[in-house]
Amino acid sequence: MVAVTREPAIIREETDIVVVGGGGSGLTAAIFAKQSGARVILLEKHTELRGSTGLSIGSITATGTWHQKRAGIVDTTESHFEDMAKFAGKLAIDDNVELRRILVENVTESVNWLMGLGVTFYGPMPEPPHSQPRMHNILPNSRAYIYFVSREAQRVGVDARVNASVSKLLIEDGRVVGVRVSIAGREHEIRARRSVILATGDYSSSAEWKGRFNPAVADVDGVNTTNVGDGHRFGEELGASVKFGQVVYGPNLRFMPPPKPSVLLRLPPYPWFTKAMRFALEKLPSRLLRPFILSFVTTYLSPEPSMFKQGSILVNKEGRRFADELDKPTYAFGKQTDKVGFIVFDEPVAKKFRGWPYFISTAPGVAYAYLQDYKRTRPDLYHKAGTIAGLAASIGVPVAAMEAEIKAYNASAPGTGRPKIERGPFYALGPVKSWIILTDGGLTVNRNHQVTRADGSAIPGLYAVGSVGQGGLLLEGHGHHLAWAFTSGRLAGRHAAGANS
Ligand SMILES: Cc1cc2nc3c(=O)[nH]c(=O)nc-3n(C[C@H](O)[C@H](O)[C@H](O)COP(=O)(O)OP(=O)(O)OC[C@H]3O[C@@H](n4cnc5c(N)ncnc54)[C@H](O)[C@@H]3O)c2cc1C
Repeated sequence: MVAVTREPAIIREETDIVVVGGGGSGLTAAIFAKQSGARVILLEKHTELRGSTGLSIGSITATGTWHQKRAGIVDTTESHFEDMAKFAGKLAIDDNVELRRILVENVTESVNWLMGLGVTFYGPMPEPPHSQPRMHNILPNSRAYIYFVSREAQRVGVDARVNASVSKLLIEDGRVVGVRVSIAGREHEIRARRSVILATGDYSSSAEWKGRFNPAVADVDGVNTTNVGDGHRFGEELGASVKFGQVVYGPNLRFMPPPKPSVLLRLPPYPWFTKAMRFALEKLPSRLLRPFILSFVTTYLSPEPSMFKQGSILVNKEGRRFADELDKPTYAFGKQTDKVGFIVFDEPVAKKFRGWPYFISTAPGVAYAYLQDYKRTRPDLYHKAGTIAGLAASIGVPVAAMEAEIKAYNASAPGTGRPKIERGPFYALGPVKSWIILTDGGLTVNRNHQVTRADGSAIPGLYAVGSVGQGGLLLEGHGHHLAWAFTSGRLAGRHAAGANS
């Protein structure tokens, strides 16, 4: 007798709107669609709702906010619109000015909405060439976005599911009518009576997509491993195209995240706490505050290139230098073991980086981190030893190789004008890795966030928000990406539910 194995049946479901992706833009779109009267299922492939939104630094740039008014700043959306072009530089000529206008005219409401949910911002901070301070930084960190927005999604009745990876769109007569999705290993087909909203983020973790537009960074890892361009692929298959695929942020050096987030980082962002934090930031001397604030932000900071100018080197896990630290070392990480390295220096460098102006990292507008801050808040990254051999042992690289490498560096130092590494104690910070922070290529969309074909016609039933729905909008400068994620999410959620048509 021949054994017959049956394929497990596909589970069939129906709703009004399916949102693909559970970061800032997807959660927001789901909430606004639900509040506009639609039944909504949100599908997130990761084990938790988060996206790049919950990994970001968390700044949002906006005008006319409570914060600007309180600081007596008179600002206009028109001036914000013009300043955005200054950030975009030569590319500004091809920018999607229609979407830029939608962004500047609606972002204030996004900030108000987030504050209404419980989010606390600190600012506004200046960031030239903005003509006014416009950068609002979330407290205590960007996980607060996800905390408050996913709580709101739950409150309004969005059916949000994690471990749910969408593999394709269902099409009937040229219209998008649903998705095929694997949820915790079981195949589902979910029909969407009104529309599907793509909120799948960018393709910063796809070697294939990065290689297509920007081969030099193809093997540099993205920060958010689940953003691999799925939504871009779905849109392209239906005739949409990707605009500004060549624009990437990075590669940037960043320290690896801590093995386990601290208790402080795991605390819910209670408004009483974040408001007290804002008060303290505004009123107390920074010398009292820095240690406390830094315990929140040293999770995601980048080391400053000035460390290398002042006499630090990079070694890989074999104890070898692998790049000229002053000439784009970030591009060389992709070829190293585990794609990581260590920053190695001696006491004269350490002495400098204990005080202004030699900070190791900065979180925009919030804090500077010096060597002693890393020692206190990130002991997993901080290594110190009396000898090079002791330091090599502490970071786990071959002693002889690192000693030889530093000897060779010191021999070449006089010719390069860089200080030698010779006066102990010796230090290392790491592992440090090079990352692509984000990619800016987005699917072509119209002013209602519907995905469009090359001839400008809308693909029936398909919307895109956040990074995948960037539609050729340039978001240079701090805080415009999150501004777009929440703003496009709000507007598209309503459009997709039919509330604005
Ligand atoms: C380190 C870092 C710092 C940043 N700092 C800032 C900042 O300070 N200010 C700023 O404005 N911007 C910042 N950004 C950029 C900003 O975070 C993003 O542009 C923004 O969060 C994008 O939101 P999104 O909703 O489009 O995507 P995301 O938040 O990335 O959400 C996309 C989600 O879709 C899911 N997904 C993908 N494919 C599928 C699929 N097939 N099925 C189901 N789910 C899928 C992903 O798992 C992901 O959770 C930063 C980014 C990083 C990485």
